[in-house]
Amino acid sequence: MGLRSEAEYREGLRDGREVYFRGQRVDDVTKHPIIGVGVRHCSIDFRLAEDAEHRDLFTYELPEGGRASRYYKVPAAAEDLLDRNRMIETGTRLSLGVVPLVKEIGTDALFALLLVTREMDRRLGTKYRERVQRYLERAREMDLALAVAQTDVKGDRRRRPSQQSKPDYYVRIVRKTPDGIVIRGAKAHTTNTPFADEILVIPTRAMMEEDSDYAVACAVPVNARGVRLIVSPFSPEQDSLFHHPVSARHRLIDTLTIFDDVFVPWDRVFLCGEAAFAGPLANTFVEFHRFTAISYKPPLLDLLIGAAALIADFNGVLGAPHIQEKLTRLAIYTETIRALTRQAAMEPKFTDGVAIPRTLVTNMCKYYFATQYHQMISLVQDIAGGLLVTGPSEEDLRHPVLRQDIATYLGGREGAGARERLQVFNLIRDLTASDFGGYNEVLQIHAEGSIEAQKITIWREFDLDRCVELARQAVNLDGQEQLTPA
Ligand SMILES: Cc1cc2nc3c(=O)[nH]c(=O)nc-3n(C[C@H](O)[C@H](O)[C@H](O)COP(=O)(O)OP(=O)(O)OC[C@H]3O[C@@H](n4cnc5c(N)ncnc54)[C@H](O)[C@@H]3O)c2cc1C
Repeated sequence: MGLRSEAEYREGLRDGREVYFRGQRVDDVTKHPIIGVGVRHCSIDFRLAEDAEHRDLFTYELPEGGRASRYYKVPAAAEDLLDRNRMIETGTRLSLGVVPLVKEIGTDALFALLLVTREMDRRLGTKYRERVQRYLERAREMDLALAVAQTDVKGDRRRRPSQQSKPDYYVRIVRKTPDGIVIRGAKAHTTNTPFADEILVIPTRAMMEEDSDYAVACAVPVNARGVRLIVSPFSPEQDSLFHHPVSARHRLIDTLTIFDDVFVPWDRVFLCGEAAFAGPLANTFVEFHRFTAISYKPPLLDLLIGAAALIADFNGVLGAPHIQEKLTRLAIYTETIRALTRQAAMEPKFTDGVAIPRTLVTNMCKYYFATQYHQMISLVQDIAGGLLVTGPSEEDLRHPVLRQDIATYLGGREGAGARERLQVFNLIRDLTASDFGGYNEVLQIHAEGSIEAQKITIWREFDLDRCVELARQAVNLDGQEQLTPA
């Protein structure tokens, strides 16, 4: 097959999967009045592969002939990472700043599995690499949409899986049979699971021998028996494009993903008890996944800057020095993230022929993005003014008397009408001061790993010796030369 149409993708989601939203079973995720927004959003990854203008970027030529989704191309050079960055940025821009995330995250996990299973096979004599390779080829061939369930519910964060008060705070292997394994537990915050064909389960942390039942990685169809998805609630007001110009069309939808004794056949099991490899797998996944993250951040920032500049213009203050200063700070923030992302792609490290984005730069970029985001939002809100949250509604604009009141009182500078001002206010409110805006703020901090996780990685990757050596030389600590002033 190689590539699926948008219609084929949607049809594939009508497979009896067990999805719940606000306590109700969802019979068909493609038709649900609220969560259906997620299907329309995720479809873009398929639509762009069909579209003449974007086909070259979103697909690639297979060596054996035919084309496949470019997401499945294992990066072998800086150019592949740059293409991946362009593809993710383009898909997100066309989704108004919301990353589609049904092929991005899954392929990040597959690249990590390719690398870690090769190392496992070398050290332990296992045969996982071949299984991952076969799975990847099949997923590419069937053009699958994949969710990744990494983050366990974790119970007491200070304790490892086997030390928890309840045995199911991390997903674990409860049984091995001649045909496969049975897994039990729950993963939190799994994005777009209701709109994926399969879930890749991978460990969330390093483990010790005592945790070996929890060292599990595998692929599970979303409609497998025992998989239950509980969708997070969100405001049902998303239908109005006037009030919610972005979130009425584009949203990530996350689930608590429950594995209630799910059987997984051996050919879909990629880690089964090898505790020493849980940490490397978790870390290698984020080496790719944080690169995806920093690739999809700039379009949202472009949208925020554009909206801030528009509203400043409509309010007559675009030329004010402090507004330009704030827009400049937003521009520096955005372009720094773009530049670091490209830098991470252009200086990859190579393992077994796979190009891995430069880990130090990727994490610096993600850290910088996450720690500054709320401040940047405050600049946009400052530029916009209070009508962000106090303006009248779409229904008021349809009312014969109120419409006139609004037109009379809510215009801006000459030529800037009330309706267009309200449209831009609503765009900024949707992105920063709504249910969706709040979700975005939490996403920017936690998704793809918490801020501390990035700091730990930066500390690990940073070349401290280089700096210490220079400091030692500066004061001749090693006594190698006479210090004489120039
Ligand atoms: C919108 C969104 C989408 C997401 N999508 C996915 C997805 O598709 N798949 C997936 O697998 N995950 C996903 N995640 C999960 C994301 O990676 C986690 O939220 C992140 O790793 C933080 O984990 P947590 O939410 O459990 O918070 P916690 O780990 O509980 O962190 C809360 C605080 O506790 C601190 N902390 C945690 N453990 C310790 C410790 N041992 N010692 C000291 N301090 C500690 C943290 O640093 C942080 O400050 C998503 C998250 C969000 C918000």
